[in-house]
Order: sequence, then structure tokens, then C-alpha cells
Amino acid sequence: MNTDVYENALSRISSYGVKAKVSDEVLDALYHPKAMLTSSLPVRMDNGSTQYFEGYRCHYNNLLGPTKGGVRFHPLVNAEEVKALALWMTVKCAVVGLPYGGAKGGIKVDPKTLSPMEIERLSRSYVRAMADFIGPQVDIPAPDVYTNARIMGWMADEYEAISRKKAPGVITGKPVNLGGSLGREDATGRGAYLCILELVNKLNLTPESTTVAVQGFGNGGYNVARLLQEAGFKIIAISDSKGGIYSSKGFDVASVYKQKQSSSRITAVYCEQSVCHQVEHTQITNEELLEIDADILIPAALEGVITKENAANIKARFIVEVANGPVESEADKILEEKGTLLIPDVLANAGGVTVSYFEWAQNLQGYSWTLEEVHNRLEQMMRNAFNQVWDQHKENNLSLREAAYGLAFKRLGDAIELHGTRDYFNS
Ligand code: NAD
Repeated sequence: MNTDVYENALSRISSYGVKAKVSDEVLDALYHPKAMLTSSLPVRMDNGSTQYFEGYRCHYNNLLGPTKGGVRFHPLVNAEEVKALALWMTVKCAVVGLPYGGAKGGIKVDPKTLSPMEIERLSRSYVRAMADFIGPQVDIPAPDVYTNARIMGWMADEYEAISRKKAPGVITGKPVNLGGSLGREDATGRGAYLCILELVNKLNLTPESTTVAVQGFGNGGYNVARLLQEAGFKIIAISDSKGGIYSSKGFDVASVYKQKQSSSRITAVYCEQSVCHQVEHTQITNEELLEIDADILIPAALEGVITKENAANIKARFIVEVANGPVESEADKILEEKGTLLIPDVLANAGGVTVSYFEWAQNLQGYSWTLEEVHNRLEQMMRNAFNQVWDQHKENNLSLREAAYGLAFKRLGDAIELHGTRDYFNS
């Protein structure tokens, strides 16, 4: 993994900012994370000992509203990664037009080595450390890599115990019975799926003639693969942290997912009710998956997987970044020169934070929306954001990433302008 991930994220801000003639005020705001809290989190382990884990939360920028961003549990979490992810959240919320700034959090831990009770105690310890740093009108966490609805439920519960009042709007991605929103579970994948449908439509492609490879088979990767297959796309390669599978005939995504739930690994199976049998396939590595000859490549795991070293070998015509930051800035240029069209993370995976916003709005209203209402509103917001980015891409001959950042710069710039700039005070 790229250790310069934050430098990489800042380099896009400066190069796109200069190209788009963005004011120094906006660039300065985006170069300076607002606040970072680092804490050692004590956890009583099942054997009675106490272990300490590093926990982080970064509020990157709150110009457009309270800050918003997920919490990641992963052994490679570090302060620079958290800052990069929080910066991307700032850009993403502005691209979609959500009333939020950007934040992110994480704990450096391999959750696969902890028992369920240790994970609960760790989640609660994180909230005890962060309780004064988060809040429904301050900063609102959500799930990310290796965190899920149950963990969000524990975190919300701990926050409410500390603040001695119900505050479901403090965290999104909660279980529906604990104030979560219908439609949040698959929202990240659904948002990416809606972007792909728009793309296919614009380019007069058909789902049936379009093949897809998906790296990472968790919340984002599984759901986008499932929705695409249901719409007629052929999913020819799937992987997770332990490796992947390939078949030119395509896989039944629901069967592969079902088997992964019971065996914890990706297996090439087709299931009829409870009976699953192996299907013809080739075992592949994660590196091989990225270079598969598929029409659409969906990196949906971690950042920094497409670099200047492997970008020239990518055969896909389209890349859809469901993961945050899977393509390093130096690889962008190589892909553009090859003619690869890329839907950037700040648009492609924005469905998750959009439905998180719906969840927060429902919590503040004390009123639940139907699944149909959530889906309709998500579709409207994703199509709208996609088309705004697409129009800029076409009208100004920009990459989709440049066009998306341009929209974010404009929204953040307008907010800064309203507070007053050097030009305003000197005129
Ligand atoms: P998840 O924990 O549900 O799934 C992660 C998947 O990636 C798992 O299948 C895991 O096995 C796989 N993986 C881990 N390391 C890998 C590796 N080295 N190679 C290949 N696969 C690997 O996480 P998620 O929520 O789906 O998040 C995935 C990406 O999507 C992250 O970049 C995250 O920031 C981004 N994202 C998630 C959400 C959300 O709502 N969950 C929203 C926006 C963006």
C-alpha cells in the first residue's frame, strides 16, 4: 500500500486547483485539516489482560456542514491515511451537494484476530475517546472497511450512555431497528451501479455485452456486483483479501456471496437453494484481477492498488472506483493516455454517504422513510451528480475526476466567498 497516500491526495488538489484557476483561499482551506484526535484505546481482552490500540479521527473541513466520514478497522490504518480519506470525504460531500464537511476515523487493528466481545469493547472504547469530538451537529461517523451496522449500533449506544440522552443522529449505518435507514446497507454499491447505468446509457452500451471484474467483495464490492448482475452485466472476476476467481462465462454473484458467508473465502460455486456445486474457473491473484480483460474494472477494497507500475497493464476500458483512492495520482495520466475512462471515488462511491445523510435526516425528524423513497431519492441525487460531472467533462474536455473536483471547488469556493475573501475585504 502507498504510504504517501495523503501527499498523493494533496497533489490532486494542487494540480486540479491550478488548472481550474481555483482561488488561494479554497486551496488553503483544502491543504489544512481542521483537527485530528489521536488516542490510545484501552480494551479488556477475553483473557483478562488490557491491550492498547491506536485510534484516530480527523475533521478535515466543516465549511459546508458538520463533518461526516466512516470508521475503518484495519492493521494499516495510520494518521496520513485517515487525513487522506477525510479530504476525499470533503470533496465527495461537495460533489453530491450534501450539507456536510469531510471527516474520517480508524483504529489500527486486525479485527479478524479479535473475538466478537473484544470488537464490541474496542468499538465502545473508541467512542469513549472520541465522545467530545463527535455529535449529530459536529461530526457523524459511519461504517467503512471491516466495520458494519452492528458496530455502528454499539458506538451509538455508547455515545448515548455517555451523553445520557438518545442521539441516533450521532452515527449512521446503524441497524434499522436501532434508528438505521432502510437502503443504507447496499447504498454504496447501489450508487456505483447507478453511475454505471448512466455511463452505459451515454455510450450506447448494453449490460449483456459488458463484462465486469470486481476487486474486494465486501459491502461495496458485493452489492455493486449483485445489482449489476441482476441488470444483465456479466461478472467475470471477483476477489477478496485471500485472492480471486475468474471465468469468461461469468459468476452467479449471490451464490459466491452465500458460500463466502459460510467458508470466509471466495469460491466459484453455483447454488440452487441449499445445494452449491463448483463451477469451471481459474484461481487468480488480486494483482491478476486488476489486469483482467474486462470492460469494467471495479476496485472495491483499499487505496493505492493501481500505481504507475501497473497502470499500463490495465486492460479495462472503464474503471469505477468503489474503494476510496484505489488509483494513485501518478497512474491517472497513464490511464488517460490509454483512453481509460474512470468514474472517480468522490462520485462513484457517494451513494453510501448520501443514504447516511438520509438516515441522519430521518433521525433528526424522528420519521422513517420507506425503502422506495430512499431508493428514489438516492437515484435522483446520484443521476444528478453524475450528469453534472459528465457535462463538465464533455464541455471542458476534463477527465471525470477533474470535473468532479471542479464541482467541489466551486461549492466550497462559493461558501468561502460568502464568508469574505481577501478580494472582498480589500475592494
Ligand atoms: P468491507 O470491509 O465490507 O469489505 C472490504 C473487502 O475488501 C473485503 O471483501 C475484503 O476481503 C477485501 N479486501 C481487503 N483487503 C484486500 C486486498 N488487499 N485485496 C483485495 N481485497 C481486499 O469494506 P467496504 O465497506 O466494502 O469498503 C471497501 C472500500 O469502499 C473502502 O475503500 C471504503 O473506504 C470504500 N467505501 C465504503 C463505503 C461504505 O459505505 N461501506 C462507502 C464509501 C466508500
